[in-house]
Amino acid sequence: MAYSYEAPVSQTLFDRASQVTPGGVNSPVRAFRAVGGVPRFMVSGTGPYLTDADGREYVDLVCSWGPMILGHAHPEVTAAVQEAVARGTSFGTPGEGEVALAEEIVARIEPVEQVRLVSSGTEATMSAIRLARGFTGRAKVVKFAGCYHGHVDALLAAAGSGVATFGLPDTPGVTGAQAGDTIVLPYNDLEAVRAAFAAQPGEIACVITEASPGNMGVVPPLDGFNAGLKEICAADGALYISDEVMTGFRTSKAGWYGVDGVRPDLMTFGKVMGGGFPAAAFGGRADVMAHLAPAGPVYQAGTLSGNPVATAAGLAQLRLLDDAAYTRLDAVSAELRGLVGEALTKEGVAHTVSAASTMFSVFFADEPVRDYEGARKQDVFRFTAFFHSMLEQGVYLPPSAFESWFVSTAHDNQALERVAAALPAAARAASEAVA
Ligand code: PLP
Repeated sequence: MAYSYEAPVSQTLFDRASQVTPGGVNSPVRAFRAVGGVPRFMVSGTGPYLTDADGREYVDLVCSWGPMILGHAHPEVTAAVQEAVARGTSFGTPGEGEVALAEEIVARIEPVEQVRLVSSGTEATMSAIRLARGFTGRAKVVKFAGCYHGHVDALLAAAGSGVATFGLPDTPGVTGAQAGDTIVLPYNDLEAVRAAFAAQPGEIACVITEASPGNMGVVPPLDGFNAGLKEICAADGALYISDEVMTGFRTSKAGWYGVDGVRPDLMTFGKVMGGGFPAAAFGGRADVMAHLAPAGPVYQAGTLSGNPVATAAGLAQLRLLDDAAYTRLDAVSAELRGLVGEALTKEGVAHTVSAASTMFSVFFADEPVRDYEGARKQDVFRFTAFFHSMLEQGVYLPPSAFESWFVSTAHDNQALERVAAALPAAARAASEAVA
């Protein structure tokens, strides 16, 4: 596919980056490999906008893959960060900021009785799995195809996000032993879960699921799916782990738990809670968390865990996320979904706008998607044409058909109008695209 627009400064930076960094990026989906073209190197962000190294401005519908829920450079978050930085950036001791952030999480999300702070979502899920295994004395872990829980060895089987984007079967470097205790099941299929438990009673430590998946595109759980998982786990003595790294503090004040009310044994968080800094967490039942070092024998640690700058940013962001903020996010998301659907319908493009609260994505397929197999059936080539048309017109979408779109409270009417203006041409490009 040829692109009629250029980004010479990004191109130069990407060439330099490719000399010193594999594939020119520090996280694979940033590389535009799935859609082609040169990844945009961003130099600044304000509210709902990003500016690239060539001086072009974009309405940002990625929001750093979720964290920037108040938009970029929010003045109160920036002030909190500046104050924290001025006091010193890391002490390697406990500090009040991490207590306050933990208290905020515990106050918002009722099933979280205790929480441990870490630095990335990957660490959070890795540690939660270890804890579940340590607590139950069992080895096996159930995960679902198309769900992504970070690049934890045992969880990279049939994973979503970049693994789905690039159609990778399994990752070299993950040994049979590391993945051997992972059972991968189709999403939204309780019968498959029941069968797995029936085949190996008393052997499964936990079921880990995205609370509402966003890493194969947005595929919400069918009614009763999460409740069914919880019930099956409880009956067998396994733990139910809800990964809220993406949904946490985004789909409601209490994340997806605030939407479906199914009480997990353990939960994982990241993205929004770090305010744009590396902060993540896992938490849940106090009797389970008590097994974690130094209270208990399951080891877990981190030099920068609970970092004072990251906790200050996260706390400032969470405190601004009140009911009005979620009402605004809902409105922005609904408006965008309507606009995208309308434009694609007008051009006769087969599509499904799939939403889970404020998260949504567009599948270029006319049937609702309920699992990874369904997500993969879409016309990805149409997304590619749509994506490049939007980019050319100044709207930055996730460079993959298998990712959620993210909005912020800073997406005002002006930003939405810019998206609306770009959609007709992008829908036409999608309609004219050939495989
Ligand atoms: N879990 C989910 C549901 C995610 O969406 C992600 C990242 O996208 C992770 C875990 C991993 O988080 P991180 O990229 O911070 O390691």
